[in-house]
Amino acid sequence: MSRIALFPGSFDPVTVGHVDIVLRSAHLFDKLVIGVGNNSAKQYMFPLQDRIDWIRRTFSGDPRIEVISYTGLTVECCKEIGARFILRGLRAAPDFEYERSIAQMNRYMDQLIETVFMLSSPQFAPVSSTVVRDIIRHGGDVSTFVPEAVSSGL
Ligand code: ADP
Repeated sequence: MSRIALFPGSFDPVTVGHVDIVLRSAHLFDKLVIGVGNNSAKQYMFPLQDRIDWIRRTFSGDPRIEVISYTGLTVECCKEIGARFILRGLRAAPDFEYERSIAQMNRYMDQLIETVFMLSSPQFAPVSSTVVRDIIRHGGDVSTFVPEAVSSGL
């Protein structure tokens, strides 16, 4: 049975922190599917298609990585794509508290799906899409914090 992992998130926009998690974990799985959330209750800064295109361009040429959009429950998306693993990144303690409750609720809903956590590399721990959006709103330079596909597409 092939090991498929779903890396779900908003990726609004994708950052070098996300890229680090993807590249370091891709070899653990046969396929890593990046699931770009499209939640009607959430207000995104960037349209879904931009968020997807930037990730596709960042990982183009890497056959292990696929990008999809999804709505609804993460465990339902996992079932649809045959993923037995959910990948999430951890930067610091607040991430842990948030991720723990989500992972435990997902486990309650489907005990066959395991959430796997990868710690951020120290140099990327302060990077978040939230801070990147703030810098963009105020006209600052985010090229250090996002992959080239994003900085060249802004
Ligand atoms: P969400 O809205 O689901 O939190 P994000 O795009 O903000 O979506 O994050 C997706 C995942 O990537 C989460 O597990 C988050 O903790 C992780 N992540 C975000 N930034 C970093 C970073 N700099 N280093 C490691 N993991 C990160």
